[in-house]
Amino acid sequence: MGIDNLEKLYIEELKDLHSAERQILQALPKMVKKATHPRLKKAFEEHLEVTRTQLDRLDQIFAKLDKKGTGKKCKGMEGLLAEGDEVMKEDMPPDVLDAALISAAQRVEHYEMAGYGTVRTWAKLLGEHEAAKLLQKTLDEEGDADKTLTKLAETSINAEAEVAVQVSR
Ligand code: FE
Ligand code: FE
Ligand code: ZN
Repeated sequence: MGIDNLEKLYIEELKDLHSAERQILQALPKMVKKATHPRLKKAFEEHLEVTRTQLDRLDQIFAKLDKKGTGKKCKGMEGLLAEGDEVMKEDMPPDVLDAALISAAQRVEHYEMAGYGTVRTWAKLLGEHEAAKLLQKTLDEEGDADKTLTKLAETSINAEAEVAVQVSR
């Protein structure tokens, strides 16, 4: 049995998140390019910076455990980003594409929130208090990113996308 206790499961899920963050780092520059609304572009740019910090935090946790963060591929994130890629290849009015990008990005944030919430709770249980703090910080940032996207969608981008649809009808 490879994973015979909670600590090993904790490390596996940290590796999954490490892979997820690395994949997001690869994907975000493309989303920055595809976004039209300046505030959406900025939100993606900022999250790219934040993601680098989040990966550093995971590296810190692995260093303390004397383990490597690499060696696992997060298939969940691979699938979410593949769907995002698919939508970016569609021919859409820019405002509609912005709405699609927000939708894809919020799926990513929610996946991360689920993962970080779990490992944060396990870290506490395992007495890894420093790691729990770092994971909570990242969890808060993912939540903030999600809220920013909701606000952008609800205050302007969805309405602009709706108008774009009417014009082309
Ligand atoms: Fe992240
Ligand atoms: Fe995963
Ligand atoms: Zn994120």
